[in-house]
Amino acid sequence: MTAVFIVNSGSSSIKYQLIDVETETSLLSGLIERIGDGGPADHTAAMTEVLATLDGHDVGAVGHRVVHGGSRFAEATLITPEVIAEIEQVSALAPLHNPANLLGIHAAMAALPDVAHVAVFDTAFHQSMPPDAYTYALPVDLAAKYGIRRYGFHGTSHKYVSERTAAFLGRPLSSLRTIVLHLGNGASVTAVDGGRSVDTSMGLTPLQGLVMGTRTGDIDPAVLVHLHREAGLSFDELDDLLNKRSGLLGLTGTGDMRDVQEAAANGSEAALAALAVWRHRIRGYIGAYIATLGGVDAIVFTAGIGENNALLRRRSLAGLEFLGIEIDDDRNELSSRAERRISPDGAGVEVLVIPTNEELEIARQTVALLG
Ligand code: ADP
Repeated sequence: MTAVFIVNSGSSSIKYQLIDVETETSLLSGLIERIGDGGPADHTAAMTEVLATLDGHDVGAVGHRVVHGGSRFAEATLITPEVIAEIEQVSALAPLHNPANLLGIHAAMAALPDVAHVAVFDTAFHQSMPPDAYTYALPVDLAAKYGIRRYGFHGTSHKYVSERTAAFLGRPLSSLRTIVLHLGNGASVTAVDGGRSVDTSMGLTPLQGLVMGTRTGDIDPAVLVHLHREAGLSFDELDDLLNKRSGLLGLTGTGDMRDVQEAAANGSEAALAALAVWRHRIRGYIGAYIATLGGVDAIVFTAGIGENNALLRRRSLAGLEFLGIEIDDDRNELSSRAERRISPDGAGVEVLVIPTNEELEIARQTVALLG
């Protein structure tokens, strides 16, 4: 096999990348947007457009990003009609994402019927969590009947970054207690013990945990009941409120961290307050996960904010020197796309920046599965 084609299909867009198996480099990548709304008529038409860009490149296999694998999928899986049916069954847990992922799978399988198609799940890496971390304190029968538990997301990124951490440090993965901070538009934290996810901040859905671009993250669930009763908000309105109109957007009017920071630099009180809430939430998770792991060897920043924003990295860890957590300001402020250490030499805890690469991880898992 020479190249793996990676497909990330959303409801109105398809992101794709062709990755050379030998060199692990990207041969081409792109994004088709506005499917059904001024762009291609549907996912099949979009996939035809995507494949037209491949001109001459040989596709050995296709790796599909699938958001929710429920409790069924703990690793990358060859897509068969049975697997498609199982992904459909899990779709109730991710009604916005899984059906869109399936549209991409169907379109790609129709267009490339002679190669293997593999599903790589955002939830899979977190299937190693123990029950004490994934169980919500609900009546057990009800939770079991509806599959209510913590699943966690961004697993492909957390796995890739925790493995790169061990490689960067030249230490065995099995010996490392790592906290991975995936801070993008969506954001999550994972406690990784010896290469296994043992706790993560997202839950049944990607709504739980950190303050995100437009999502609340953690909130007292009674707020929903209260807003339903007092403000008359319907469940669809609450869903929209918590997922699309909250987080940084709700606090400041913009969901993009660069704009929030610029506003804060210009003295906006709302932006300063939002950054304080954002940081407070992250630090709470760091503290909790140090307790869960019984210590920490490495804290690693990744994704849009984690990779690019020195100030927020520093503010996230400020005052934690008593735990051996320090940042070297010169290293931290150096702008770079490389994997790098930002803690001083000899610090008790390694603090790193590791750019994530979910497409490469999907390609690796696809190749590994197909052998
Ligand atoms: P996703 O993949 O979840 O859409 P990304 O990982 O691309 O998100 O992260 C997007 C976020 O990263 C945005 O909030 C954006 O403002 C932020 N970001 C990107 N570059 C920078 C930067 N240089 N400084 C601050 N924030 C940044």
